[in-house]
Formats: sequence, structure tokens, C-alpha cells
Amino acid sequence: MIWILDFAFWIFYCYFYKKNKPLTLKDTAKHQGLRNQLVSTLQQKGITDLAVLDAIKKIPRHLFLESGFQDFAYQDKAFPISAGQTISQPYTVAFQTQLLEIKKDHKVLEIGTGSGYQTAVLCLMGAKVYSVERQSELFKKTSAFLPKLGIRPKHLTFGDGYKGLPTYGPFDSIIVTAGAPYIPQPLMAQLKIGGRLVIPLGEEVQIMTLLIRKNETQFEKHELGEFRFVPLLEDKN
Ligand code: SAH
Repeated sequence: MIWILDFAFWIFYCYFYKKNKPLTLKDTAKHQGLRNQLVSTLQQKGITDLAVLDAIKKIPRHLFLESGFQDFAYQDKAFPISAGQTISQPYTVAFQTQLLEIKKDHKVLEIGTGSGYQTAVLCLMGAKVYSVERQSELFKKTSAFLPKLGIRPKHLTFGDGYKGLPTYGPFDSIIVTAGAPYIPQPLMAQLKIGGRLVIPLGEEVQIMTLLIRKNETQFEKHELGEFRFVPLLEDKN
């Protein structure tokens, strides 16, 4: 009987210890090796922007995941994060970022901060990043986490990305990291002339859509294949 109790206590202890284990920001040579492999995979899949690949090579993606998924962090896959959301697949992050044609000091608006991984990629590329997240849990967690890695976006906000950030615009580029049923008009209005807006459009499956602003009223539209995202939801939570 005592043996059974001991065993039960041990299982309980392991479960809670693992769950509440303090975050250690350990990044090893093994992680670096796995990141190099991930970068080769992305190159094979057609990513050519060296600044994007360099950022992915440097960012410890395993630290952006819940502990149960850390061992798989360098697979080219999306994983669950808090609040029923996901960290995007590295290929998707690279594909969207490449479309933005980031230059140093570009002002970039990101809709859907989530884990902050995409935010980190943009920051490492020298962009001034403004990011909006509608889940308060994720907003708080990511705002506290990024500075621990030395990553400092210009501005993180808890709010509804459908509205953009009118007080901080216009932006050189805008990236939406959730599937939108339509292009929110405020985002188009907050794009500089010559600026690029990348947004996955659709309900079940999304078409990656690139809008380039030609002048006050005209936008050039490019459709660039199917992707799957969590939905862009109205309001905030
Ligand atoms: N870039 C993130 C992707 C997270 S998934 C990463 O790599 O981790 C998409 C995120 O968009 C989720 O965190 C979700 O909460 C957020 N989101 C959904 N609708 C939103 C809205 N209207 N405004 C801001 N963020 C939104």
C-alpha cells in the first residue's frame, strides 16, 4: 500500500515539477546543429532571402515552445502555444517574411504576436516592429519573454489587429499571421505607398496574398499558394 502511495506521489511530483519548471534559456551546440539543418530544409523548399535564413539560424525556436514540444522545435512544423493558438511553421514564417522585402529600420506592423517567434525574426532583420495580439494571456507572456532573449520590438499591444495601429502608422510593411476572411480596410490605409501587405485570406484554407500599394488608391495583388492558419478573430480576449 505504501509502495502504491509512494508511486502515486512520484507521478504527481514529476507532473507538477515538469509543468512548473522555471524556464531555462539554454541554447546548446545541438540546438544550433538542428537549426542549421532547418535552414537547409527551408532553402530546399525555395527560401532564398539570406537575411531571413540568417535570423532563423540564430533564433532559439525551442524556447518559444511549451516544454512538451521543445524536442521537436526544429522540425518544419507548427505547434500549439497557449490560448489555443499556434506558432507558425518555420517555412510559413520564412515565406511571409521574404515577401515583405525587409530593409533595416523599416517600420513593420505584425498582426498576431502569438509566441513572438515571427516578431523575433523581424527584429533580428533590423526592422522596427509593432505587433498586436488579441489574447491577453499571450500578450503578457510574450511581452515578458522577448526581452529575456534580448529581443526588443518597438511596441507590443493587446488589441484587435483588424484595426491596425493608426497612431503608429504608416508602415513600410504589414504582416498578418492569422487567416483573415477579408482584407481589413484600416490595414490598407496604414500602408505607405510602395509598402507591402502580406495576409493569408480565406476561412478553412487560406491563399497567401501580397498587396503592394502603388499610390493613394491602387494596390497590386498577388496570390501565392495555399496555407493553413488559425483564424483572425474580431475584438480581443
Ligand atoms: N506570429 C505568431 C503566430 C501566432 S498564431 C507566432 O509565430 O507565434 C496567430 C495569432 O494571431 C494568435 O496568437 C492569435 O491570438 C492572434 N490573433 C487572432 N486574431 C487577432 C486579431 N484580431 N488581432 C490580433 N491578433 C490576433
